[in-house]
Amino acid sequence: MPKQLKLKSYALLASLVNLVLYQYPFFKFVLSNNNLKSTSGIMLLISLIVASIILNAFVFYIGLYLLRNVGKWLLAIFFNISAIAVYFINTYGIIIDRTMIGNVFNTNYEESSSFFSFGLVLYVLFLGLLPSFFLFKFKIIRPKLKSFLIHTGVTLLFLGVLVFANSTNWLWIDKNSKTLGGLVMPWSYVVNTSRYYSHINKKNKKQILLPDATIKDDEKSIAVLVIGESARSENFSLYGYDKNTNPLLSQIEGLKHFETESCATYTTAGLQCILEHKDTGKLYEILPNYLFRNDVEVIWKTTNWGEPKVIIDNFQNKEMLRKNCEGPDCEYDGILLKGLKDEILASKKNKILVVLHTSTSHGPTYFEKYPKQFEKFTPVCKSVELANCTQEELINAYNNTILYTDFIVANLIDDLKQLKEYKSTMIFISDHGESLGEKGLYMHGIPASLAPKEQLEIPFIVWTSDNSRNIKENQGHSQHNIFHSVLDFLAIDSPIYEQDMSIFKN
Ligand SMILES: [Zn+2]
Repeated sequence: MPKQLKLKSYALLASLVNLVLYQYPFFKFVLSNNNLKSTSGIMLLISLIVASIILNAFVFYIGLYLLRNVGKWLLAIFFNISAIAVYFINTYGIIIDRTMIGNVFNTNYEESSSFFSFGLVLYVLFLGLLPSFFLFKFKIIRPKLKSFLIHTGVTLLFLGVLVFANSTNWLWIDKNSKTLGGLVMPWSYVVNTSRYYSHINKKNKKQILLPDATIKDDEKSIAVLVIGESARSENFSLYGYDKNTNPLLSQIEGLKHFETESCATYTTAGLQCILEHKDTGKLYEILPNYLFRNDVEVIWKTTNWGEPKVIIDNFQNKEMLRKNCEGPDCEYDGILLKGLKDEILASKKNKILVVLHTSTSHGPTYFEKYPKQFEKFTPVCKSVELANCTQEELINAYNNTILYTDFIVANLIDDLKQLKEYKSTMIFISDHGESLGEKGLYMHGIPASLAPKEQLEIPFIVWTSDNSRNIKENQGHSQHNIFHSVLDFLAIDSPIYEQDMSIFKN
């Protein structure tokens, strides 16, 4: 006759077993990467232990209530996979992220059999099978629906309080989220397996082609789209900021800037809005793919990530750029300008689109994003732990990234000025804004409908060579202006082109 146990005790017990047997790598990482001499460090450790127990017990509780015996079998499967995962983490120092899951699914039998060892057998035996055996030694007494709902509600409330009590540690968790997420059992492989499959689905999702475009004239013209990362307009002196963060751009004649809000507060969504012809919720051909398919030269250089699939011949990511780079700029976004002029001159086409996707203002390590000579605003925050920095230090570090952005964009405009046989435009727009401690918020990613203005208000800056095009006055601006403005500037006609959405006058 199996022993009887209430569901909440059973779930709690399973969670404790999970903590003791499988969370060693997770807490080993926390202990060695966090300052335990500070109060916030100790607070973080205790909170993570409590959260680990309660959160897992909570999920097991709900799972077992809904799935009954199937839930027990699932737990047993988790225990065994966790045992294997912990073995590989301890032995090979891996983390179980999406890429690792991909490796696991793409490994053939011969490769995987080479991993079999006596150690692995011991792990499976003592950390997997043995604890699983005890899962079936108890008969669970299910609670009534009413007490189930009360338990669930109270636990959720408790977890919410715990999250907010740790707000000073969010940055640390955010910075280390990839590693932490790859070490926590059983969620590292559960979550990353579904991420792996959704990634494959997304990759295989076909873009919907837009109707063909025609190039209207033979005039040589270039549009350079610079996509800013986490650049907020508030800290640009062009937008009225009282510190001089735009010493170079403010000297350039004919430069225009517009008040604009991003459509989202995270990179992938911001990029989508900048590159699509309108908000349809579907994956239509994005600007570079559309122009490339319609015989425009397209160059994409990036030190960042998060763009929809770019289908062009000349896509240069950070690794490719660094391989061919020499000098101090190679570590920073200055790398995006290297060799650009020569690449443009080498093109045999009359119409050229260049996209430079920067990463300069991405936190939390703002101070690492610019060369030393741009550290004009001091002292700067050199920690990712909020508690160790004043807001002034944080804003100083951020301002230096804007100062460096100013330098890069101004240099780009200089380069374009030298290409005299081309008519050119430079359009700078950010993917989203950034919080720097206002209302206790940092970085970005709050859903747009709830987000503070700092995360939404972005710079949108435009320059044209010899004032070759007039710019409309009194127009509302959004990221969706980009697609139509570039088509307009390069004289490309298309059934989906909307003159109203272009920033240029006819
Ligand atoms: Zn971003």
